[in-house]
Amino acid sequence: MLLTRLIQAGCVLAAYSLVGVHISRLGEASAILHWYLPLVLAAAWVASDLASGIVHWTADSWGSQQTPIVGPRFLRPFRVHHINPEDILRRGFVGLNGDVAIVTLPILLAAFAIPLTGFGSLAALFIVSMSAVGLPTNQVHQWAHMPQPPKFVAWLQRKGFILSREEHVEHHTSPYAMNYCITNGWCNRALTKIDFFRRMEWIITRLTGAVPRAHELVMTLSEAEPRLVPEDLSSLDASERMIA
Ligand SMILES: [Zn+2]
Ligand SMILES: [Zn+2]
Repeated sequence: MLLTRLIQAGCVLAAYSLVGVHISRLGEASAILHWYLPLVLAAAWVASDLASGIVHWTADSWGSQQTPIVGPRFLRPFRVHHINPEDILRRGFVGLNGDVAIVTLPILLAAFAIPLTGFGSLAALFIVSMSAVGLPTNQVHQWAHMPQPPKFVAWLQRKGFILSREEHVEHHTSPYAMNYCITNGWCNRALTKIDFFRRMEWIITRLTGAVPRAHELVMTLSEAEPRLVPEDLSSLDASERMIA
């Protein structure tokens, strides 16, 4: 546990440091202050939100907590979060942000290979911007669960710069199958309108036979007497069994 936290802390530190190094490098190459900067930032924010939705949908819909390697470490927290949404409020900064940093680090490292000339500088600016706005995704997710977030955060939520509580609460309704995007939620409405995730599920099921959300940890019986299905309940620890 301590080792995991140390790795996560190192990854958070490294990821934000690399963003700083990239910004300095892009600045030296005169690749930041251009007329297209606002467009690149907006596109990166949309792309980051879409990426958060696809990762979230994948973790929510496919595999189980018994899936080798990713099951216990990455899929399980998503499933537990559905039956106990308030668990995210008990997570500390490092545990909350560490996993996103681990996923983002290889992207930030690979961006050093992009030459900062011509289209390369535009591509590097986009990738670094996308990584930078994507890094606090889980932090934004936690804020969306806070009944009373810090004032500045509440302002960002009201203005639509980050995911709002109202937007995210719709995801926490069984079968947890909409509003997957959690960076700022900008993509949710459009993806729902075109039925994006249901179409993707249809294709994957046709190709592989896999059924989405087949291993969701579910609450059954009435709301007054919620419980988990027995095979899943046995794997949760005491704090996770608390139903919010
Ligand atoms: Zn979810
Ligand atoms: Zn949530």
